[in-house]
Amino acid sequence: MERTDGIPRPPSPDELWAGIVAEVATMPDVVTNLLREHQPDEQGFCTGNGCGTAGRGVPATRWPCSLHTLAASADRLLRRG
Ligand SMILES: [Zn+2]
Repeated sequence: MERTDGIPRPPSPDELWAGIVAEVATMPDVVTNLLREHQPDEQGFCTGNGCGTAGRGVPATRWPCSLHTLAASADRLLRRG
C-alpha cells in the first residue's frame, strides 16, 4: 500500500538487502575473498570461514550460504559497472 502522507516508510527487506549489497560492492577484495572461501563441499555444505566448518569438522551451513549469496550479488553489481 502506497503512503501519501509524507511519513517516511521504513525500508523494505529488499531495499535493506540492496543497500548491503551496494556497500559490499565498494570492497571488491572482500567480494573476491568471500566468493573464494564460501564454496560447497561434496555434501553441499559451505566450507567458508564462519559457516560452521572451521575447526569443528562438521559442516553446518547449506551452500549457498548467506555470505556467498551476498558476495555473488555484489559481484554482479560490480560487473554491471
Ligand atoms: Zn559460507
